[in-house]
Amino acid sequence: MVTSPQSARPGDDSWRGKTVVIIGAGQAGASAALRLRRQGFDGEIILVGEEPSAPYQRPPLSKKYLTGEIGETQLLLKSESVFGEQSIQLLTGCRVTGIDRAARLVYLSGGRPPLKYWRLVFATGGKARPLPESVAESFDNVMTFRSLEDARKIRASLQPGMHMLVIGGGYIGLETAATGRKLGVDVTLVESADRILRRVSCEATADYFRDLHLRNGVRILEGAALRGIEGEGRQARLARLDDGSEIVFDLAVVGIGLMPDTELAEAAGIDCASGIVVDGYERTSDPFIFAAGDCAVFDYRGAPTRLESVQNAIEQAEHLADSLLDMAPSPYSPHPWFWSDQYDVKLQIAGFNRGYSQVVQVPGARAGSVSNWYLRGGRMIAVDAINDPRAFMQAKRWLGNGEDVREEQIIGIAGAAAV
Ligand SMILES: Cc1cc2nc3c(=O)[nH]c(=O)nc-3n(C[C@H](O)[C@H](O)[C@H](O)COP(=O)(O)OP(=O)(O)OC[C@H]3O[C@@H](n4cnc5c(N)ncnc54)[C@H](O)[C@@H]3O)c2cc1C
Repeated sequence: MVTSPQSARPGDDSWRGKTVVIIGAGQAGASAALRLRRQGFDGEIILVGEEPSAPYQRPPLSKKYLTGEIGETQLLLKSESVFGEQSIQLLTGCRVTGIDRAARLVYLSGGRPPLKYWRLVFATGGKARPLPESVAESFDNVMTFRSLEDARKIRASLQPGMHMLVIGGGYIGLETAATGRKLGVDVTLVESADRILRRVSCEATADYFRDLHLRNGVRILEGAALRGIEGEGRQARLARLDDGSEIVFDLAVVGIGLMPDTELAEAAGIDCASGIVVDGYERTSDPFIFAAGDCAVFDYRGAPTRLESVQNAIEQAEHLADSLLDMAPSPYSPHPWFWSDQYDVKLQIAGFNRGYSQVVQVPGARAGSVSNWYLRGGRMIAVDAINDPRAFMQAKRWLGNGEDVREEQIIGIAGAAAV
């Protein structure tokens, strides 16, 4: 059991008058706030969010929100009234501009008075990585994709018959390309690595999604490095590749990764290394300050790791709330999972494929369904289940139970699927 400074328990008077300030009203921030209440914390909770809206889900931004299948209210994590009912003070459109760790104060934008904290939580997520300045100056029709505001702009720009250039063949780029095609937009996707999904998946999964996109009319250029983007005034018109070729476009969407938001933490002298460094109880190098979600880096199976997923944002933030209240029985030890929707295909990932040495492909029971299983040292560590929820659930069960699963067992599920 972790011992936090001045720990307190539910029903214990020592919480009275204590304030937890949470920086970032996203998935992790909201999850931490709600969990603190569920665990009986009856002090003050202040959730400070720079964005103007109440906490919302990002995954639909590149999926059903962009196609127009759902609206903004359906993005909300909870109706805004829930925060009031839970006595969680939600300050939206308000940026934390600085921290005084000695005085335990956070400073706010807009001339608001500083807040005194008992415990402080970083749930600051990250920012979309922009194109290097050497490649593109700031153009109105070259957009990164992270926030609702970004999604609104992209959605407003997408018109049938126009040409969208997607820069980056990771999940956000591929989902945006799929949505563009659904809306009748011409799409070219450029990826500077030798193949799409290079950082996150095996060749077999990349092959599946390349083929899916090609069949849906996306032009994919792999190993295609951008030399520059040119245009007039604030409107970009063409992208020039390293091989000298040109792509003329109306809109470019940049999906080249996330930069964890560590600016404030670094300025306050908190240890950061490609994220805000936390221990298994989400404590930073300052014992009164915690962090979780996309901004936090922690030791996962012996290596510093940042997980960018809804599942991690929720589970790590809830574990953080427990740690902060001295109620976490053991260090955070997640079983990662993730999903991506493209056209009518659902990819579900269980586990973490870092360091894999072998991939076993198993056909699913339905046409077009398949699973790619990752093994390290002969032992299963992750799966990419493509339109194959059965393989996903099986992998989750095995990983959750910590079972030592070998190739024969994996191949065995193909036989079972065929029955
Ligand atoms: C388009 C898109 C699609 C995605 N699809 C999937 C998916 O299919 N599956 C999946 O698992 N994950 C997906 N993700 C990733 C997932 O949304 C993130 O992992 C998750 O939102 C992380 O939550 P977080 O709370 O850590 O960070 P965020 O959601 O980024 O929230 C951080 C918040 O902190 C605020 N903030 C930062 N600094 C300050 C400050 N100084 N003062 C006040 N506020 C501040 C930010 O404005 C932001 O609102 C997707 C992400 C995007 C952008």
